[in-house]
Amino acid sequence: MQLVFWGTRGSLPMNTPNHRLFGGNTACIGVNAGGDMVVFDGGSGLIHLGSEMVERDRKEIDICFSHFHSDHICGLPFFKPLFDSSFTVRLHSFGTNDATLYDAISGYLSSPIFPIGLADFKAQIEFVEHGADDALSIGDLRVSACPIPHPGGAHALKAVSATNTQANEGKSFVYATDTEHNPAEINASLVAFMREVDMAVYDCTYDDAEFAAKQGWGHSTWQEGLRLAMAAQVKQFGIFHHEPERSDEMLLAIEAQAQEMMPHSFVTRDYMRIEL
Ligand SMILES: [Zn+2]
Ligand SMILES: [Zn+2]
Repeated sequence: MQLVFWGTRGSLPMNTPNHRLFGGNTACIGVNAGGDMVVFDGGSGLIHLGSEMVERDRKEIDICFSHFHSDHICGLPFFKPLFDSSFTVRLHSFGTNDATLYDAISGYLSSPIFPIGLADFKAQIEFVEHGADDALSIGDLRVSACPIPHPGGAHALKAVSATNTQANEGKSFVYATDTEHNPAEINASLVAFMREVDMAVYDCTYDDAEFAAKQGWGHSTWQEGLRLAMAAQVKQFGIFHHEPERSDEMLLAIEAQAQEMMPHSFVTRDYMRIEL
């Protein structure tokens, strides 16, 4: 399984001299296994995946959304395959959120928010709304979901590669953003969902010291991410959904502290590729 981090920032795309190392594209990860691919979220990082997709022969794309906040869907109207009639783009959601997948995307892509609407796309577009307990199969990849606390609802997503291809035997990845933790108790259902996966990324918008002033905003801390990862015995942990103003220097300092607590942890950065 190969992961490509097209966007790792949270809340808002950023581009300053202090965002050179980790990047400023918002949430988008490509999960590849055995020639198959699923994309988790369509933040501004999706634009760069789209540029790569038009060069490939592959004409079917599946994008699963954790939820529909703008930092997770804003890349969609700039995704080049949508303007190419040879592509089929399937958009997926799991469980119930405050809005349906179709209403959220069509609402975002309409006046007065955005001038380009669904009717302007040339690709075949399918909206696929799965139940919370459903699993989606895309070739060698199987995707499932776990509801996580976040305003309006959100779901953590898990991709598991099929066990019948030797190179990808049973590899697993959990994408858990956006979510707010309860400081009084660990999220046991998320720990179970993450248990022993090869890699997990988590909403690390804040640190524990900042969290008290941000309760109710729907986000979590990198220390809580490490607590979850260690409780679930995940093999590698990625700090993800960086607060927009976190500079390269701040993220390097967080990474050093995190690695003292869990050596197999790191801060995810845009365009990083990881083989599991
Ligand atoms: Zn977000
Ligand atoms: Zn959100």
